[in-house]
Amino acid sequence: MHQYVIALDQGTTSSRAVIFDEQAHVVAMKSYEFEQIYPQPGWVEHDPAAILNTQTDALREAVRISGIPVEEIAAIGITNQRETTMIWDRATGRPLYNAIVWQCRRTAPIVKQLCDEGLEEHIRNATGLVPDAYFSGTKLKWLLDKLDLHERAEKGEICFGTVDSFLAWNLVSGHPHVTDATNASRTMLYNIHKNDWDDTLLEALDIPRAVLPKVVDTSGVIGMLDTEILGRAIPVAALAGDQHAALFGQGCFKPGMMKNTYGTGCFLLMNTGELPVTSKTGLVSTIAWRIGGETTYALEGSVFVGGAVIQWLRDEMKLIERASETEMIANSVKDTGGVYLVPSFTGLGAPYWDMYSRGTIVGLTRGTGRAHIVRAALEAIAYQSADLVTAMATDCGRKPTQLRVDGGASANKFLMQFQSDILGCDVIRPAVIETTALGAALLAGLAVGVWKDMDEIRSIWKMDLSLTPQMNEEERRTALSGWHKAVSRSLRWIEEDKA
Ligand code: ADP
Repeated sequence: MHQYVIALDQGTTSSRAVIFDEQAHVVAMKSYEFEQIYPQPGWVEHDPAAILNTQTDALREAVRISGIPVEEIAAIGITNQRETTMIWDRATGRPLYNAIVWQCRRTAPIVKQLCDEGLEEHIRNATGLVPDAYFSGTKLKWLLDKLDLHERAEKGEICFGTVDSFLAWNLVSGHPHVTDATNASRTMLYNIHKNDWDDTLLEALDIPRAVLPKVVDTSGVIGMLDTEILGRAIPVAALAGDQHAALFGQGCFKPGMMKNTYGTGCFLLMNTGELPVTSKTGLVSTIAWRIGGETTYALEGSVFVGGAVIQWLRDEMKLIERASETEMIANSVKDTGGVYLVPSFTGLGAPYWDMYSRGTIVGLTRGTGRAHIVRAALEAIAYQSADLVTAMATDCGRKPTQLRVDGGASANKFLMQFQSDILGCDVIRPAVIETTALGAALLAGLAVGVWKDMDEIRSIWKMDLSLTPQMNEEERRTALSGWHKAVSRSLRWIEEDKA
């Protein structure tokens, strides 16, 4: 008899279910998109029913397509878009508002108020985060204020949860009110050192503990799938935020190991081991996972415009028709001819943190052509990621030896080779690039014994592509110094009141 593990990957634009076998091969997958709701400029919401229905439909459909008997499904793991905030009635389970999505900026004034009250330092120290409206805490406060729910919240009649929590409540028999340590670490309410909700922040935001879920391990059985869903009770055995699941799915189990996901933006996470590293370079510190009560930490940084610069070349500049063409076009010239493109369309994140920076192309000459610009755009994705790697290396005093990659743009071999060149370290792409789903499946399988330990998981993890640096030290130094000069030209471009 086989043992299969299913990952439910609840993302920002779609809900997916992916079925893996014991060798961690993908057996079947299904995904459904759902509506993005924009009630006002800068506000983003999801309908909770749409999240739940697309997720259960994807699960049922993936099982149907695969043809595997439900008796052979050993466990289900859940991974999710992080920070998105929901509240529901504890007695009826009825959602009380749309989900407020991580991208939503509506609570920026509440964040400012926390900083004005002098809590910025405390937020950094206790939660590992940079104060921002992304995170759930201020979204929850906004909901309790808006719906006048403080009194009911105090009495325990209201449940708050991120998407993992909402799915666990709705899919698991007995409606457990839980979240895992990775998702808790993105709420800006959780003390990552003490592994507990932070009373100072709860008080500052007037949030009672009675609304908060119990924080469980990332890998561990939280209950059985409601038999209504697949006709059988199956252990639901993992909850993990998407980037954390991807770090696990990339097999980055040792301190110093890191992965970068090249999607619309890029997400770089580095395992920092048993102790959280306090960043001096503007990165955030987060919980990588908690297994058997032991917490592993990570540093995280993101590039706002990653693959999105390629979409811009295609949709706005009309320089290309398809993202995949960029590889051939970049290879058609020997270099960018001294051109650098800084895609700081919405400002720059770590390590620059300049929201007044705007995109620029520098180094143009009469000989500059389309291929040079396309190549410079791809190189910019690698340069921005390299800046994050360097920041991480500075924060933890450890030089990287390898970068594991995934995401749509990791298909581009030119980009991956340039990344290796500019970092001066190996770039490894795994055989399964569905690393988020894979991570959730591995975490769930680990909890029920499909895989007995991390060593066994390491032994089934396979790579597809391994690239070593081809650039010499001097070329690398020259290229990087050109990039930093280009970045410096883009900084503080717009006036403060126009950001
Ligand atoms: P997301 O999960 O953020 O939607 P994906 O992982 O699906 O992103 O990756 C899509 C992004 O990758 C797009 O921004 C696209 O422009 C870029 N991309 C896809 N294929 C390539 C390629 N071959 N070369 C460069 N960029 C690519």
